[in-house]
Amino acid sequence: MIARVALDLALRKEFDYAVPADLEGRLEVGARVKVPFGRREILGSVVALVESSPQTNLREIKAVVGRQAQLTASVLELARWMAGYYCCPLETALKSVLPEAVRQEQEGWRERLTVRVAAAQGEPPELTKRQREVLAILEEWRELPLQELLKLAETTADTVRRLEDKGLVAIRSEVSERDPYGDETFVATQPLALNPEQSAALGAVVGALDGGAGPSVFLLHGVTGSGKTEVYLQALAHALAQGRGAIVLVPEISLTPQTVERFKSRFQHGANRTMVAVLHSHLSAGERHDEWQKIRQGRARIVIGARSAVFAPVERLGLIVVDEEHEASYKQGEAPRYHARDVAVVRAAREGAVVVLGSATPSMESYHHARSGKYRLLELPHRADAAKLPVVRVVDMRTEARKQKGPPVFSHLLHEAILQRLERREQTMLFLNRRGYSTSLQCPLCGYVAGCPNCSVSLTYHRQRQRLCCHVCGHEEAVPSECPDPKCRNPGIRYAGLGTERLEEALARQFAKARVARMDSDTLQRKSDYRRVLTDFRSGRIDILVGTQMIAKGLHFPNVTLVGIVYADLGLHLPDFRAGERTFQLLTQVSGRAGRGDIEGEVIVQAFTPFHPAIQYARRHDYLGFYDQEIEFRQALGYPPFARVALVTLRGRNEEKVQFSADHVRKELERVLVGFRDLIIAGPGPAPLARAETFYRYQVMLRTRAMSRLASMLDPWVQGLTLPEDIRLSLDIDPVDLL
Ligand code: ADP
Ligand code: ZN
Repeated sequence: MIARVALDLALRKEFDYAVPADLEGRLEVGARVKVPFGRREILGSVVALVESSPQTNLREIKAVVGRQAQLTASVLELARWMAGYYCCPLETALKSVLPEAVRQEQEGWRERLTVRVAAAQGEPPELTKRQREVLAILEEWRELPLQELLKLAETTADTVRRLEDKGLVAIRSEVSERDPYGDETFVATQPLALNPEQSAALGAVVGALDGGAGPSVFLLHGVTGSGKTEVYLQALAHALAQGRGAIVLVPEISLTPQTVERFKSRFQHGANRTMVAVLHSHLSAGERHDEWQKIRQGRARIVIGARSAVFAPVERLGLIVVDEEHEASYKQGEAPRYHARDVAVVRAAREGAVVVLGSATPSMESYHHARSGKYRLLELPHRADAAKLPVVRVVDMRTEARKQKGPPVFSHLLHEAILQRLERREQTMLFLNRRGYSTSLQCPLCGYVAGCPNCSVSLTYHRQRQRLCCHVCGHEEAVPSECPDPKCRNPGIRYAGLGTERLEEALARQFAKARVARMDSDTLQRKSDYRRVLTDFRSGRIDILVGTQMIAKGLHFPNVTLVGIVYADLGLHLPDFRAGERTFQLLTQVSGRAGRGDIEGEVIVQAFTPFHPAIQYARRHDYLGFYDQEIEFRQALGYPPFARVALVTLRGRNEEKVQFSADHVRKELERVLVGFRDLIIAGPGPAPLARAETFYRYQVMLRTRAMSRLASMLDPWVQGLTLPEDIRLSLDIDPVDLL
């Protein structure tokens, strides 16, 4: 028997190894193995078992890692598909589907010594007083982890070892499983009685789980608070009852303790101690290992996790839920550049599972599929808790700037509204998607702007730290006291633009009595900071919470009756065809934070382009209106969902060379893809972010409806391409970000 192995080196080649006699019949496809490679020993995954090999002089597999093959057959196939579609080596795809903690040579279980009373035979041996005391304590408990016994009995390991020598106790090493939620108890919740819309949605999903005909991907379009999660929970219960497992994908940022609790409370109590596994980036490597193994061993049947949980080794998969399916964070920024929502759809189709994509603001792609019949549309147009959608008012900041002589932080309307909330002891959230104090440092005399030496962006002033910082590469420098231009030297250099830090300061100035907290990546250095601020806000110790998109999602505070969006058009004019869609989604999300309690909420949107459709449709809570006008624009220009995009980016330190290589790439693409119908090639041109981390960036964009076919041609082409040594090429299939 011969094993074909993908090594943990991105060589784009599988190597054959002889299976030693002692592993014959035991080695499974998907197992991790240690093999000799050159003079080294390397880990890899068995991707096939074959009878014969074209390679000669096969060397032998050294060892198998773990007790069970880590890759299930279906996840291995999924990795193969991913390598092909996203144009990356199989090894790279395999790296994504197994968490690092599971890929290690050492098994990741934590072993712990436990001590138990042994049945002593014959004459009771002589014991010291100390030994008798320790034994008495242990007899009371029968069995204890060694460390706990030492603490309880205030003794040393030596004493216990001596008891072991006398045959009175037995010490064993046992696996002790880490449980990141081990300290919490979950109170069982019962399914809610559904309203008619929820019932209809659940009925359709259950029908598909039971093997009904028709597409088995559902788009659950439901406004914030419409009870989508309750539909997921009851659909999950049905899958479990069928003996099938399920995966729930949630954006990392929404994977809060609150979210996890809703799922654990429904499914994990009593005898089901391990039913729900959670996978996210805040777990320690050990916790991650144990959670993953719970799934692999079939003890956890529901997985909740961020992006990479789509690869969880759930067998007999029945259902994949992708909550907030429009979220850009489902796309991985490095190879393999996969989109977890799209992988979910592919995986489910291969394994006969049902998919539910949920969102209040579905992506243009998914809604288009629902319209065209590829997906089935389910709608929850009303809030389940009978709360009303908030009233949204848009303020024209151009008029406001004229009235107040310069663009103000707060319009008159927002100022009054905040005052009113302070009087009524209600809470306010203010949203500004830009951290730091100001966007740039500018000289009003000569026009100098402090820019990053490594990137084509201006530096942001951070007042607390008294530094100018680049938000792209992290470069920092001191704040100049005068204009650095030697011909100018103007001491009146000024801060332009508004960041959260400055917003916080303006609040302190204008609402002296208000208790204000700020939440952005500058104020939150640790996980505990996040929890602390939210707890303070929830308990009413904070009146106004200021934040970036960190506060936009998933949070639920009944006493928040006012949400202010300070500059709604910040992201609207970026050179990306999704800028309008993003803004609409963000405004809708943020508005959803207002009025989730008994009191009606109010949202005030400040904008310099108040009549932009993204702002106007968000104001009216009109998803369909937005979709209809946006889809027209996409169709006219041939952008997704009417075509798929592949983005080739070239990077290098010498701009001329980058440009030259980009021209070469374009010519090559034309040559290789000659005769490929339905293809538009655009570029090369400088990327919108023309320089980042000292690298110049040029792009070529390809658009087609036949992406699978295009990708299958691009992959070998990229492999064969020769570029100057210091030029890097990256290929992004279905990019979500064109910058
Ligand atoms: P979504 O996921 O769509 O934002 P949730 O599932 O969080 O909405 O539901 C919003 C609120 O409505 C929650 O407090 C939830 O408990 C409640 N809810 C959902 N469905 C029902 C129902 N059928 N009856 C009563 N309350 C419900
Ligand atoms: Zn920079």
